[in-house]
Amino acid sequence: MATILVADDNRANREALAALLETAGHRVLSAADGSEALERAREHRPELVISDVLMPEMDGYELARRLQLDPATAATAVLFYTAYFGTREAKDLALAHGVARVLVKPSDNDAILAAVEEVLSSRAGPRVVSSGLDREHLRVMVDQLLDKTGALEAQQRRVQRLNRTLAMLSAVNALIVRGSEQQALLEEACRIAVEKGGFRLAAVGLLEPVSGAMAPAAAAGEGSAERDLARLKPGARAVIWNDAESGSFVALPLIVGGATAGVLLLYARVRDFFDEEEMRLLQELAGDVSFALHHLEQKARMDYLAYHDSLTDLPNRSLFIDRIGQALSAARREKRFAAAVFLDVERFRMVNETFGRKAGDELLRQVGARLREAAREEDTVARIGADHFAIAVAGFDHPGETTHWLIERLGAAFARPFLVDGVELVVMLKAGIAVFPTDGESTEALCAHAESALKHAKDGAQRYLFYAPEMNARVAEALAMENRLRRAIDDGLLSLHYQPKIDVQSGALAGLEALIRWNDPELGAVPPAKFVSLMEETGMILAAGNWALRRAAADMRRWQAAGLEVPRISVNISAIQLRQKDFVDSVLQAIAGLGRRPLLDLEITESVLVDDIEESTRKLQTLRRAGIEVSVDDFGTGYCSLGYLARLPVDTLKIDRSFVVRMGEAGTPRNIVAMIVSLAHTLGLKVIAEGVEHDAQVRLLRSLGCDQIQGFYVSQPVPADKVESLLGPGAQDSLQRRMAAA
Ligand code: C2E
Ligand code: MG
Ligand code: MG
Repeated sequence: MATILVADDNRANREALAALLETAGHRVLSAADGSEALERAREHRPELVISDVLMPEMDGYELARRLQLDPATAATAVLFYTAYFGTREAKDLALAHGVARVLVKPSDNDAILAAVEEVLSSRAGPRVVSSGLDREHLRVMVDQLLDKTGALEAQQRRVQRLNRTLAMLSAVNALIVRGSEQQALLEEACRIAVEKGGFRLAAVGLLEPVSGAMAPAAAAGEGSAERDLARLKPGARAVIWNDAESGSFVALPLIVGGATAGVLLLYARVRDFFDEEEMRLLQELAGDVSFALHHLEQKARMDYLAYHDSLTDLPNRSLFIDRIGQALSAARREKRFAAAVFLDVERFRMVNETFGRKAGDELLRQVGARLREAAREEDTVARIGADHFAIAVAGFDHPGETTHWLIERLGAAFARPFLVDGVELVVMLKAGIAVFPTDGESTEALCAHAESALKHAKDGAQRYLFYAPEMNARVAEALAMENRLRRAIDDGLLSLHYQPKIDVQSGALAGLEALIRWNDPELGAVPPAKFVSLMEETGMILAAGNWALRRAAADMRRWQAAGLEVPRISVNISAIQLRQKDFVDSVLQAIAGLGRRPLLDLEITESVLVDDIEESTRKLQTLRRAGIEVSVDDFGTGYCSLGYLARLPVDTLKIDRSFVVRMGEAGTPRNIVAMIVSLAHTLGLKVIAEGVEHDAQVRLLRSLGCDQIQGFYVSQPVPADKVESLLGPGAQDSLQRRMAAA
């Protein structure tokens, strides 16, 4: 057993050594630096001092030298235990200082104990310290210190770098925990890699399943990874590149569900950046990002499943409630209407029981698809129960028209039978409709009222019921009208009346306008204002408009055959007609028998022309080449800009009656009429005033230079058989006299 003094500035080192020596049966003292060791050695006279070399205050060499110089401690053996003892010179220096042995840190326990035993047993008398060692000592010390500083700095850099990577890893993990949408997550992860990880550039590419290519998904930092992404082959292992100029980069695969889903690219500014330790952390990072991708994908699927009906792929009740809520907020903000329509497939249970569940499921799928077709793009069709569907009808301006339109579309969609398992099934729908805000201001109220309307519809004979009774009355009236009108077209109850247009200067008959009339046996003469828009809503206008064109052409031919001098005849055309692809053809067909100069004109409302100016222009040009003239009807009520007007292929402006009526008042209305007249003439167009009833209006229009007038002043619209009297020479004379007197 010996007394041994351990000198080391590192406490952990001291304690480890002390424990080892104590277990071996020695008495151990310790000191934190050279000067403390010297003091304790003088006091306790240990047989052996085990000393570190680099220590504050006094290093190991100095300690060894002083121990030897002092007779009291000259016999103490010294053993250096040090990590920085590379050079031969350092060893020589130690021996020259009387150091018995140099052990390199770390050594294993057996080696340490063996060295201690050896030194203790061979302890000789006091050693001699050679002189002239001081300078040599200094030089070796400086070398060693430089060595140590270099190693420490390298270590520090490594630690810093790993710390940066760790900081990045934890920031990305925090980001993942917060959870967000995939794109945001990837972009944020790249940003963190650049800001916290110190990478020059970070990018993510995602594998495109079809092409198998890596498509750029997110990036942050300097430069672009797109070229590298393009040439990357999706693999399962990380790949490192080192480049003499640009540094190094690593491609870390992102593995989702066992397959490579993408790649994370990290670019460092230096070569050989990606060592083993760094890679361990980065693999972890890639693993975490992969996990997040997987999680988000699953969440998206779960969300979809939570809000959709898996059978029909339509939104389910929860999503429907959400959507109708959104539709109501939008309608409230924009001061528009919205509606909830609840639908029930009639006798669905019977289908299920008769044809089996599979057939029932198939029918529901098809019902869902047809509802989707019937609704508008902006509406939400949902399946809210076994055989219950619902439609959230988003913002609209005319509740009557829109709901009527929807009912029509639903009717048409279910008119065709469904083909299920080779069997044709006719399916009836019952619907309950509640309109916002009149039938309810909140989602709950609106849905409850739509449901109660549906219940009434199911109990009664009607297929569609509104919650508000007056809506039912209005729709019922429209439906009844529609049926009558349909019959009227089939039974030939429509007719044309003609109203003359007169030349303001000469009083000569300049043209006739054909106006449609409906004489219902029960309702009597129904004004066009009441049924033309209904025909437009239901599409009946196509048949009726075509009929009007052919009727006018036939009348004209008849009058010509009777030897009458027939002026130009104009026919009104609806927006719906104009929008048809075959519009031009159907007009040309209608006038086919009228020869090369057909004398047939079209009147089209101003607002319709500007709707789709390119398309309208093309169609009208073709017709004008065939000799047809075009009038802009109700001019002044639409929003036709001067630019549009100049481009439109038209011949005549018809000043709307509302301006003519108020023309007597001085000021704006009169100025407007004056302006329209001069505008028309500037553009080389004719101008007609509609709804002229009084002498005064005739005089004013004449003075303003208006070309023609039309109105009760000249004549009411008259039936076809009365036109002959208008065309006769007697009628012309009396008209001209009246005009001259005006
Ligand atoms: P519009 O083309 O502007 O026709 C002029 C309307 O003013 C006609 O009404 C005519 O009877 C009326 N009117 C003419 N002179 C006077 C007058 O001095 N005083 C008053 N108060 N009214 C006068 P009508 O026949 O009821 O037609 C209304 C609208 O229905 C027409 O306006 C036209 O837009 C549309 N319409 C008529 N027939 C057809 C048709 O065959 N096809 C299409 N698509 N629309 C038609
Ligand atoms: Mg007209
Ligand atoms: Mg008009």
